[in-house]
Amino acid sequence: MVKETAYYDTLGVKPNATPDEIKKAYRKLALKYHPDKNPNEGEKFKQISQAYDVLSDSKKRDLYDQGGEQAIKEGGMGGGPFSSPTDIFDMFFGGGGRMNREKRGKNVVHQLSVSLNDLYNGTSRKLALQKNVICGKCEGRGGKKGVVEKCTTCKGRGVQVRIHQIGPGMVQQIQSMCSDCRGEGERINPKDRCKQCSGNKVTREKKILEIHVDKGMKDGQKIVFNGEGDQEPGLEAGDVVIVLDQKEHDIYQRQDNDLIMKMEIKLVEALCGFKKPIETMDGRVLLVTSYPGEVIKHGQVKSIRNEGMPLQRDPFEKGLLIIHFTVTFPDNQWLAVEKFRLLEALLPPREEEEMVSDDMEVVELVEFDEQEQNRKYRGEAYQEDESPRSGVQCQTS
Ligand SMILES: [Zn+2]
Ligand SMILES: [Zn+2]
Repeated sequence: MVKETAYYDTLGVKPNATPDEIKKAYRKLALKYHPDKNPNEGEKFKQISQAYDVLSDSKKRDLYDQGGEQAIKEGGMGGGPFSSPTDIFDMFFGGGGRMNREKRGKNVVHQLSVSLNDLYNGTSRKLALQKNVICGKCEGRGGKKGVVEKCTTCKGRGVQVRIHQIGPGMVQQIQSMCSDCRGEGERINPKDRCKQCSGNKVTREKKILEIHVDKGMKDGQKIVFNGEGDQEPGLEAGDVVIVLDQKEHDIYQRQDNDLIMKMEIKLVEALCGFKKPIETMDGRVLLVTSYPGEVIKHGQVKSIRNEGMPLQRDPFEKGLLIIHFTVTFPDNQWLAVEKFRLLEALLPPREEEEMVSDDMEVVELVEFDEQEQNRKYRGEAYQEDESPRSGVQCQTS
């Protein structure tokens, strides 16, 4: 049992979630609530980031499971309990892995919704996006050569400093962004401003990216367009990062390169064989065949080689198609009573029966409601907790 579930609740996962489930939950929420997309949800974004920061690290997760948020805050993990939400986001969605962060503009992350069919067959999509591009007319200067002057208000520093007397002999320095040059330290006389970008140095342009989704790509996989992010004078442009988000499929579930499906068969099929067609995602039909003499048991799992997902590096190779069988049994009174003798003669013989004697008690089997029973067990457990005879003291404080 974990002490608290708040972090798990924030990510919408169960306390026994696998690292993959945690990653996936973070991915979806972080993209939804990132300040770029949802400026009013800063607090929510922070919570998601903190929850992920803890739960994605096995040491921190153990500590949290045992001692809750308190333990994390006191845990001495070094460098404060949490990394910044943006750092976590950038680490997770980072582009081409170029390290020089300060000299680069930020990455833009987009989610692309795809079906399992798209990932099986490969597809390409066009994505239209707006981005800042260095103005071609003034080459990013904001005006003609030589018209840029140092801001006189801040003497080119971009900040204004005001000195405030707060008591005898005590002064306070207040720094604020220079409002005349918007912190840039330079200004252009309004009449000399570049007409194309109105002195902004960049223009907003529509750009269409063609995204190739290769066969075998996976949910959560990133496709990076290096240097396609916003341009800014003096900075290397960031990347556009496309994150694939796979929708659930009606029939197939994917696990790595394998596909998993359920197949329901009747008792007669389980015993006497069957042929069942299944449609593949590239439009072929496979005839799943079990011959008379092969018995498929309830809950049995079988697989078909090379009918799973294509491997991205080698799309002619595929994983397994794994089939989980359920066998449906006939209902009560499906056969006239006198015919059971015939059936029994065909079935494998019973175990030798134990001796039955008159003094044994005959009992009847009735339906069992598992949910109802569990509710009862829980009810009893609560009663016991409250009972005063419990000798063990709680030590949760
Ligand atoms: Zn200024
Ligand atoms: Zn311009």
